[in-house]
Amino acid sequence: MSRSIPIVDLRASRQPDAVAPADLSAGADATGPLADTLGRRLHDLRISVTDRCNFRCVYCMPKDVFGRDYPFLPHSALLSFEEIARVAGVFARLGVEKIRLTGGEPLMRKDLERLVAMLAKLPVDLTLTTNGALLARKAKALADAGLKRVTVSLDALDDATFRAMSDTDTPVAQVLAGIDEASRAGLAPIKVNTVVKRGLNEHAIVDLARRFRGSGHILRFIEYMDVGATNGWRMDDVVTAAEILERIAAVFPIEPVDANYAGEVAERWRYRDGAGEIGVIASVTRAFCRDCTRMRLATDGKLFTCWFATAGHDLRDLVRGGGDDAAIARAIGAVWRRRADRYSELRTAATPRDERIEMSYIGG
Ligand code: SAM
Ligand code: SF4
Ligand code: SF4
Repeated sequence: MSRSIPIVDLRASRQPDAVAPADLSAGADATGPLADTLGRRLHDLRISVTDRCNFRCVYCMPKDVFGRDYPFLPHSALLSFEEIARVAGVFARLGVEKIRLTGGEPLMRKDLERLVAMLAKLPVDLTLTTNGALLARKAKALADAGLKRVTVSLDALDDATFRAMSDTDTPVAQVLAGIDEASRAGLAPIKVNTVVKRGLNEHAIVDLARRFRGSGHILRFIEYMDVGATNGWRMDDVVTAAEILERIAAVFPIEPVDANYAGEVAERWRYRDGAGEIGVIASVTRAFCRDCTRMRLATDGKLFTCWFATAGHDLRDLVRGGGDDAAIARAIGAVWRRRADRYSELRTAATPRDERIEMSYIGG
């Protein structure tokens, strides 16, 4: 059976359009290796379980845009846990080996552990990225449900800088308690992700390195990216991976480590004194599009093949409209096979800023 993906225009003013219902089924049988036009295999799936968040990070959901009146998705627009699990099962059968739950803030989705339990039955590496505010409360339930590991975002160790980056009243201590609880629950090794924005948290680089050295957690610094249309990104605000490494090396000598696998996004480094490992994710200055093997399932069931895509491919109507798993697989296969994204390598004005999709919706 061949079926094209229907268009649903949920919130035409703000949401990305679904792609035209072109012949998505053409040449998209679900068998054989799934590679895109640049030969990249579909390996990872990121699932955004909510577009809402309890933080307002300046680089992601600035408060002046994501305020009281912001039209977040209504609950009915979200894929249910059953729908997510079904789609994820199809992805696993198509060769996806790694699934990351994200958002928005994934721990704000009620009863998330129920979804985790469903996904834990799949033969995939199941992880989650969180801002950590609710982690102390939820870590054990998540681990009991089958979550393997967590990544916790944390941009500073002092409350003033943390607040300047994340625009929240949550104290740093609460996030650190979440990390401790996750560690106790066995969600290890824990990765701690830090976005660095010029003029706001450069001093946190060495503070965080000092704090997490020897802890067994892996600290990773992310270059501030021009994703989304609302954060007012400028190249001047980017603290490059090279500068981050220089700042750390000036205090704690480090040396490079081989990648765990081809195409690993983070470049790995270790302290020469054996106090553990750190990473840098140089999304801006050393783009890794050629190894980008990720599909993103947005909160309302649209598929995106790149952070900088301006249109998603609607799976939700196919799922709700009675499409069987083979039809879903064909649709996913068609989207992946015609993928040619390499925005960060080109970094041109090809994607106009005001058409970019917000990370909180597409899934960070
Ligand atoms: N709310 C969760 C969190 O913050 O961990 C999960 C979603 S968040 C969108 C996922 C990751 O994207 C976070 O580590 C965040 O720091 C990162 N991120 C968001 N906006 C970014 C930007 N403009 N540049 C680089 N990283 C960004
Ligand atoms: Fe929320 Fe995560 Fe975005 Fe910060 S980075 S606003 S915590 S979704
Ligand atoms: Fe992947 Fe697009 Fe980022 Fe390149 S710009 S690494 S293709 S998400």
